[in-house]
Amino acid sequence: MDICDLAPPYIRAIAPYQPGKPISELAREMGLREEAIIKLASNENPLGVSPRARRAIQDVLDGLARYPDGNGFELKQALSARYGVAQESIVLGNGSNDVLELAARAFLTPRDSAVYSQHAFAVYPLVVQAIGAAGIEVPARDFGHDPDAMLRAVRANTRLVFIANPNNPTGTMIRAARLEAFLSALPQQMLVVLDEAYNEYVAPELRADSLAWLARFPNLVLTRTFSKVYGLAGLRVGCAFAAPDVADLMNRVRQPFNVNSVSLAAAAAALGDADFVRRSFELNLVGMKQVTDGLTRLGLDYIRSHGNFVSFKVEDAPGVYDRLLRLGVIVRPIASYGMPDYLRVTIGLESENARFLECLEQALAV
Ligand SMILES: *Cc1c(COP(=O)(O)O)cnc(C)c1O
Repeated sequence: MDICDLAPPYIRAIAPYQPGKPISELAREMGLREEAIIKLASNENPLGVSPRARRAIQDVLDGLARYPDGNGFELKQALSARYGVAQESIVLGNGSNDVLELAARAFLTPRDSAVYSQHAFAVYPLVVQAIGAAGIEVPARDFGHDPDAMLRAVRANTRLVFIANPNNPTGTMIRAARLEAFLSALPQQMLVVLDEAYNEYVAPELRADSLAWLARFPNLVLTRTFSKVYGLAGLRVGCAFAAPDVADLMNRVRQPFNVNSVSLAAAAAALGDADFVRRSFELNLVGMKQVTDGLTRLGLDYIRSHGNFVSFKVEDAPGVYDRLLRLGVIVRPIASYGMPDYLRVTIGLESENARFLECLEQALAV
């Protein structure tokens, strides 16, 4: 007997998540110096770690022999003050990936189903499949979520609906009024996980007042992350806001110390670094124009993005990806998102964007 046959078929069928290639790995594979490589593959903040978070990390090092605060009081207090959400409504996670999984673990069984969109964030099908629940993928419209089709797709056994707004890897966004209408129309006996990982990159006038929706929709779970604009992807911190009873259930299934002390301290400090967030937003705004103008100059189509990345169409995406790697530029192939003709690039520093565009021009000219 194969020992792996002991695992349920739905576990054996999981296709592993494909992360962006780490700089160290490319350096090893190609014999390149790490300093010669730019990584624009994981939507990380090109400005690095905020100075305030860096200081908070230093300050916490002496206490590392102790377990973290399993309730994350200080970070919850900071989030509560910042967003006007009661601490009982907050769930902290080892990255927002963790809280996405907690929602699935708390609310799905193998008899249930979850709805998400084609081309949506890859973690949704993963966490659903890990439970053995049925994933219902709804065809996208112009690469974005189609709320009407998602409404029609829900079944009697649907317990979770995932929406990424803006979505990764397409950068598409559902406008606030549309999303609000969707939440109103959706049967209340299912949860909606609204993943706002890129919220801080959205133009202020387009940002939904999603926190205010929590009071009206007890089935809403909002998720945010410290991995993107807050520049702490390596520390893994994210959170969910939900009705207190929903948050309570999610908290019961998490590991008691799922967020470590360094991450808790860094995240609380980063949340207060408004200057860093503003600089990150502005850099992205200018960089997005630089990159999309460059793509246009190269005659390439791209999907208009509301995040800190943009997906563009090329002939022979695997070949272009590979040639970019050889030039020391890491972008993200998104064939696993059902977009085999596209590559996704993260907006970097001005110099990184310029180098990406130069290398892309070379990679296309074969
Ligand atoms: C990057 C990203 C996240 C963040 O994941 P973390 O686990 O918080 O690093 C969440 N959702 C989407 C859609 C993302 O692209």
